[in-house]
Amino acid sequence: LPDPDVAALTGGDVDDLLPRPGKESDKYRRGVLGVLAGSDLYTGAAVLAVGGALRAGAGMVRYAGPAEPVAQVRAAWPEAVITLLDRPSIKDVGRVQAWVLGPGLGTGDWAHELAAQVLGTGLPVLVDADGLTVVARDRSLLRRAAPTLITPHAGELARLIRAERADIEAARLQHARAAAAELGVTVLLKGSTTVVAEEPRPVRVNPTGTSWLATGGTGDVLSGVAGALLAQGLGAYDAGSCAAYLHGLAGRLAADGAPLAAADVATALPAAFRAVAAGG
Ligand code: AMP
Ligand code: MG
Repeated sequence: LPDPDVAALTGGDVDDLLPRPGKESDKYRRGVLGVLAGSDLYTGAAVLAVGGALRAGAGMVRYAGPAEPVAQVRAAWPEAVITLLDRPSIKDVGRVQAWVLGPGLGTGDWAHELAAQVLGTGLPVLVDADGLTVVARDRSLLRRAAPTLITPHAGELARLIRAERADIEAARLQHARAAAAELGVTVLLKGSTTVVAEEPRPVRVNPTGTSWLATGGTGDVLSGVAGALLAQGLGAYDAGSCAAYLHGLAGRLAADGAPLAAADVATALPAAFRAVAAGG
């Protein structure tokens, strides 16, 4: 694969790109995010994705799911507006400006039906985790005109583009760009160094992060952050880049040289926003 153009992402770039509420802002105009995540078996992913979104400036987060994750999200985040789903339908969720699809969602018919519906809208969609498993089986779901941001780690990307994980690890920039071109989406490839690729733009390399982020649930928080930025009107390339930067910085602040839990990353997000605004 050819070497792509590369752009280092800086805190100054993120500071310039981040949406901030105007004097006349209201919660609807600040961006409403819909989150389709979690299942009766995997409730935590829903809690973490909603938490990431709420701490990343969404005006409102609408969560929709089955009973168990609904109970957990409701307990953890009274701020979220909840729709209990007894069938896989987004009809009753209310208006949103962007969707997060996938963390803990499961990979069966329920998840496939929800994927088909959100990807069938004209709204920006972030696809992560189980959502990536669903679209790997049926890549035609990704053929759409609206922005799509996928957030795989190397193993998830390997499945999606039918490549070997080791080959992706050995040439991450190149594979991220090739996948963006092949799938017609924006690719945020997670790992020790996270990169964001969208044709025909340079591949952005995220400088923040810490290996303490290598723990369960941190990817779910990232989905919420990037989804919130999509809902606030950033394009997929900028939403992915800013989310990676802020999430990595929040990880560093939360860890400070010691272990972190994924929820700590969400808690540290406001401090990361402040550090970016202060030029850090
Ligand atoms: P996931 O793969 O969905 O669990 O997400 C893991 C998160 O942790 C992503 O944001 C990764 O970029 C980050 N991460 C995982 N391993 C490392 C590492 N060794 N160094 C820095 N960040 C990491
Ligand atoms: Mg993950």
